[in-house]
Amino acid sequence: MRITVVGTGYVGLIAGLGFAEFGNDVTCLDVVPEKIEFLRNGKCPIYEPGAEDLLERNIRAGRIHFTTKTKEAIEFGEIIFIAVGTPEDRNGDADLSYVYETAREIGMYMNEYKVIVDKSTVPIGTSREVAKIIQSELERRGEEIKFDVTSNPEFLREGKAVGDFLNPDRIVLGVENPRAEKKLRKLYHVFVRSKKPMIVTTPETAEMIKYASNAFLATKITFINEIANLCDKVGANAIEVASAMGADGRISPKFLHPGPGYGGSCFPKDTKALARTGRKYGAPMTVVESVINANAHQKELAAQKIISSMPDGGRIAILGLAFKPETDDMREAPAITVIDRLLKTEKFRIKVYDPEAMETAKMILPKDKLEWCKNTKDILKDIDAVAVLTEWAEFRNLDSEFLAEVMPEGKIFDLRHIFDRKEMEEAGLEYIGIGF
Ligand code: NAD
Repeated sequence: MRITVVGTGYVGLIAGLGFAEFGNDVTCLDVVPEKIEFLRNGKCPIYEPGAEDLLERNIRAGRIHFTTKTKEAIEFGEIIFIAVGTPEDRNGDADLSYVYETAREIGMYMNEYKVIVDKSTVPIGTSREVAKIIQSELERRGEEIKFDVTSNPEFLREGKAVGDFLNPDRIVLGVENPRAEKKLRKLYHVFVRSKKPMIVTTPETAEMIKYASNAFLATKITFINEIANLCDKVGANAIEVASAMGADGRISPKFLHPGPGYGGSCFPKDTKALARTGRKYGAPMTVVESVINANAHQKELAAQKIISSMPDGGRIAILGLAFKPETDDMREAPAITVIDRLLKTEKFRIKVYDPEAMETAKMILPKDKLEWCKNTKDILKDIDAVAVLTEWAEFRNLDSEFLAEVMPEGKIFDLRHIFDRKEMEEAGLEYIGIGF
């Protein structure tokens, strides 16, 4: 099939590569020429394990093309995926300007029947708005071309995006016209051979499924964070609590890891957008509203743990900056809040290192106020404390004896629970966790 994907970010690029991998002809469109140039040369502008192999293979096979030419890209696809960003706007709503701009462009250039698929995470009712925009552009052109707007939310996780896209837990299609449904079923046929469910429903329900799923996961993380905070006060161990809770099949152990709060490109903005939708329709999302507040508090609490334990400040190594391992995405990462609060005290000398997110971090964090290190060896010198903000595999094996040598009687703020308290304490280090 001929597929166009608009937007080559974490979702659009991986979707484009996935469709090409299954033998479709794919054109990926983006407005950033440098990204397109990079991709044409077989280089991935984002860090995502496995993506560059797919890119190289599918470019070689001639199944994927990258362009900045909107007309060409819109005319190409029989199915057009919208995978542009929907960031948070000033009020906490989803900013739909990129989605609506794409809808206008589709209306401006479409030349035959198209199935338009909204893959971006968008508030309930957006598919209908997209259809209206396309229709009004067609009317302006005096054209009568049929089209269907459908919803196909994406559930991939950054860092595991390739595997998640090629082998999804479920595929959700919000589609009303059987003609469009047939095309989408054909496209996704190869994906569901593993007997994973394909849920075909209305666009509104599909849009809600995405928000409800993300809000639920954010709630689960926040729940265990609050349990961990209480464990700290009452002398219980949150890791053991989470493990025992997770053994219950109804609960599952996933997303039950206490930490410095969730971040990333999705949970923060999607919980806020859902809360805003609830308020708009007079059906308040009180649980989600609490989750948003509790998560902001959790990031502050992580910073306060360090500040109150080091009232005179000192030299601290921040291990990990990305919002989670295996990605270079820094959006809403807890490290941003923690570093900001430490800097505000004017008492800390902060060294930072992340295996993949150094470049993105330099665009977000105050570049001149931090010491940017090249590797783990480089950062673990001349320090009084270590704070783990991202649980990258390469930090897990740090030896307690080595750490004790580098910073005798130093402090370990193990905010991701990657070390063993007993081992660290036996080496003479002070171990500070969250609920453990
Ligand atoms: P992103 O910011 O990484 O990428 C968006 C891309 O769209 C950018 O490259 C941008 O240049 C491009 N773009 C914007 N306007 C355009 C236009 N008019 N024409 C062509 N290209 C245009 O965003 P992302 O993380 O890939 O997220 C995209 C959507 O998918 C969002 O709605 C997000 O909520 C959702 N989503 C993201 C993830 C994730 O893990 N990142 C997972 C599931 C769903």
